[in-house]
Amino acid sequence: MPSAASPGGNPRAAATADEWIGLRGHVLDAPESGRLRSWREGAVLFDPATGRITETGEYALLRRRPRTAKVRWLGGPEWLVMPGLIDVHAHVPQYPAVARGEGELLPWLRQAIFPLERDFSKPRALVQAPRFFHELARHGTTSAMLYSAIYEESTDAAFEAAAARGLRIALGKVMMDVGSYGPLQPRKILTVSLHESEALCRRWHGANGGLLRYAFAPRFAVSCSERLMRGAADLARQYDAPIQTHLAESAGEIEKVRFQFPWAKDYTDVYDRCGLLGPRTVLGHCIHLSEREVGTLAAANAKVAHCPTSNLYLGSGIMPLDRWLAAGLTVGLGSDVAAGPELNMWAVMRSAVESARARTFFVPDARPLRPAEAFHLATQGGARALGLDGVVGTLDPGREADLVALDLHALLPYGTGAAAGPRPGELSPQDLVALCVYRGGPAATALTFVRGRCVYRAGEPTPMADVPVEPGGSGI
Ligand SMILES: [Zn+2]
Repeated sequence: MPSAASPGGNPRAAATADEWIGLRGHVLDAPESGRLRSWREGAVLFDPATGRITETGEYALLRRRPRTAKVRWLGGPEWLVMPGLIDVHAHVPQYPAVARGEGELLPWLRQAIFPLERDFSKPRALVQAPRFFHELARHGTTSAMLYSAIYEESTDAAFEAAAARGLRIALGKVMMDVGSYGPLQPRKILTVSLHESEALCRRWHGANGGLLRYAFAPRFAVSCSERLMRGAADLARQYDAPIQTHLAESAGEIEKVRFQFPWAKDYTDVYDRCGLLGPRTVLGHCIHLSEREVGTLAAANAKVAHCPTSNLYLGSGIMPLDRWLAAGLTVGLGSDVAAGPELNMWAVMRSAVESARARTFFVPDARPLRPAEAFHLATQGGARALGLDGVVGTLDPGREADLVALDLHALLPYGTGAAAGPRPGELSPQDLVALCVYRGGPAATALTFVRGRCVYRAGEPTPMADVPVEPGGSGI
């Protein structure tokens, strides 16, 4: 079996000055929805010194092009080379609880999630967070917007792990001052939560050369007072930082919000009046929205995290993606681990395709989603949702080199050998993207790069051995 690891050289070997890396393979991106751009025998060149893509095109042409830099070529005809995948919504402390519990959102949070998050102390984060970011890179995910637990220390540890792995991460400590995880100190929660969030933002927003950003994270209106949400909005404005929260995920949640905020027109109005809606706000789920709410989100240029695997797992509903896109909303895809059962963004794309297909069964004018459109949402769509448009998401020269190389051998039913089945060169770009969407996963990831630095190489072991972890944590 051909090795998935970098034919042609070691991507982590120290680059000499003026040495670029050239990734060869079937090169693909999706700069606009519905349009794939591809080079069948192509290559993407980047300069590890600047972290930027320098050239993209036909390998035969690029190989002969005169340039002062030497090129170290990696890959070959069995590789697919693409923009790194972007996960716009997941929860770091929840990953161990994937596939646990069968209830709807609110009972599931109480029973399966809050006890786990409550124990996401610093010692636990020191063990789990490096593995979490290794997992992201192993799945070809280069950027993500993530929630931690409510603790400052474990959020620090998660940021440190993200920095060590070299990923492009927006992360924030969960803010909750209503109910929280259970028996905490209610009087202190509001001020401490704002204070700790601000302290984390000062330390991490723009850190690691700008790869890290702080994302203020009021969990959702159910667990936040109006003062906390207003405070979070003020801090985000003050520090030019993104905001992430959840909106209109389940019927039970919406009912609670109606009860807790009787002055609001609807759920979206709660966030709007608290100042939380803006172009740097990413709202998870957005399943059950009225026309008025969609209009408010579009006017604010707020972004939507579509989390189809999670929506099906918790039985929350099917988001009408076609309607939200037609209304002009910017949408990215989120794994929403652990309500979504895996970090695999190919599985999330597949679920988006299948959810849209399922909607056509009972909504006569619903529009299905093609795999190439889902691929756009998980790359350029995610970049737009996270405010990274023009930075990553496509393979245009000048973009930062956040890339993933996949080994077709791991995707085709009989591999790439002489066995029956299509050979890589016989597959259209649409075929290849569909193959990834329906069969993609970490086994196919050969290399992952962020800003021109290799952050994962196939076969690399999971970091850190098991060490005992004391449960607990006292933050708010
Ligand atoms: Zn979530």
